[in-house]
Amino acid sequence: MFVRAAEASTIKGAAAEPIAPWDVERWLKRAWTREPLLDLHRELAGAPRWVPFDAMREAGEDRDDAIVQSILRALRSNELVALRLPTPGLAPFVPDQPPSKPPPPTPRKDEVLNVKFNPSTGYCGEKLTITCDGTVTSGTVKLKFKGVELETPKLTTLDVDIATPKSMEIKNVPFLQLGEKPEDRKAFEDVQVQVESESAPVPPSNLPTFYRARGMPNAPVGTFTATRNWNNFAMKPKFDQKIEKYIAKVVVTISVLKGWAATYVDLTGTPVTGAVTGGPGNNMRWARSTTGAMAPDEYHDGTAWQPLPTGFVPGAGNFFSRSFYRSGTTFVSPEGASFVYPEAFPDYNFDDPTYIAVRKRWISVAKKIWSRKWHLHRKACHSDKTVRCCRYDVDVELRFKLVTAPGEGVVVLAPGNQRSHAGVFCMGDNRPSLAAHEAGHHMDCPDEYDKGAIDPSVNTDGATNGLDSSTIMGGGNTVKKRHYHAFAAMVQRLLKTKYGRDDKYEAVAIT
Ligand SMILES: [Zn+2]
Ligand SMILES: [Zn+2]
Repeated sequence: MFVRAAEASTIKGAAAEPIAPWDVERWLKRAWTREPLLDLHRELAGAPRWVPFDAMREAGEDRDDAIVQSILRALRSNELVALRLPTPGLAPFVPDQPPSKPPPPTPRKDEVLNVKFNPSTGYCGEKLTITCDGTVTSGTVKLKFKGVELETPKLTTLDVDIATPKSMEIKNVPFLQLGEKPEDRKAFEDVQVQVESESAPVPPSNLPTFYRARGMPNAPVGTFTATRNWNNFAMKPKFDQKIEKYIAKVVVTISVLKGWAATYVDLTGTPVTGAVTGGPGNNMRWARSTTGAMAPDEYHDGTAWQPLPTGFVPGAGNFFSRSFYRSGTTFVSPEGASFVYPEAFPDYNFDDPTYIAVRKRWISVAKKIWSRKWHLHRKACHSDKTVRCCRYDVDVELRFKLVTAPGEGVVVLAPGNQRSHAGVFCMGDNRPSLAAHEAGHHMDCPDEYDKGAIDPSVNTDGATNGLDSSTIMGGGNTVKKRHYHAFAAMVQRLLKTKYGRDDKYEAVAIT
């Protein structure tokens, strides 16, 4: 039976026995047919009066969800209370008891306390005002908070002066349940927080009130783009990000073109000077290695291959590479139309298992280096750090997209083990984090090694004037908080679009 809360204490002749919402829900689902429910609904909309419950439940198993939900909502917001009324001649209906829950405590019939939240819903960090009314008008009540959908170990009790409205902040309500396997992860848009009185002068209630905490677990994909000038290197970072079950899922796509790398050598300081037609530049010559090593041992004088000048040992500072791709029957360098390599590059199978394996390794190494290093956390969240309310994991996925022409951001993939750079990745390069480093540029991270595309204003977290040799951007393989700054900015943007809340996020230690 249901009556408005205001009338609950004035009903005569009934065992005024409040019923917990779970109890009512089971009754409704089991026993009530559509017609009586409609009647009841009409009753509730008008003046409340008794409804013969037992007669209704005889009718069958059908139910109407919308009405059930409307009654439950009314119950939960304390607009209604449920009372059990025995009907003479019919055996009393005993609902199934949930096995794990203790029986509801017996309330004192002479005291009623209604606890209300205004508004009755909000996001972490938002304020609710608690007001109390009922037959108890003074004193302090200790309210106990408990999540309905999942465990809320960090929710505490709150002392409320019954006569004075009290403001409280929503916090410590988790929205994520981690399972043993990734697919067991369960994220919630909504968590109901049940509130009960725990102390005198109001007895423990079996007529709980709820407020509804709202989470932000998902947001559709958006694209991050920026134009940077780092140490006079122009860069255009770009990646996609979406949010799924409190995971910021980042996808970096690098467009790749089948091609070749051509070594060249800077012979400044040797007797070989000037330039040759089609050559790599002044005092420079195309070069090659006849030993399989990365460093060249021959240069091309414009006519034929020659040994390097006597006494000249090429080091990292004087041999480099240029990328080429095949256009029709000629080889063209995206790095300069004037470059002509002195001979044709031997063709190769781009999808040879060896090369497929190299690209797969680059992808898996990038994922391993970049993913799950930090959480992204809402700066203004006041929850305990173990509570998964405003925290997002980060997964980074690198993808290669094969294209057939050069263009902005297109990387040439080459066989062999020449020197890679941002425009050409050599698939014989033995540095597995090569692509992870380049993906870092796409994710808005400058170089952190000397003479690279650095940002000298970076002086946080171990970096000095933009240099930090321990990181993936500086020649090592760690990822620091600053490297997640673009993901944090994207979480802010994506959540603002989806939920209308403009909060700031930052990388924090994983808890
Ligand atoms: Zn929070
Ligand atoms: Zn770089």
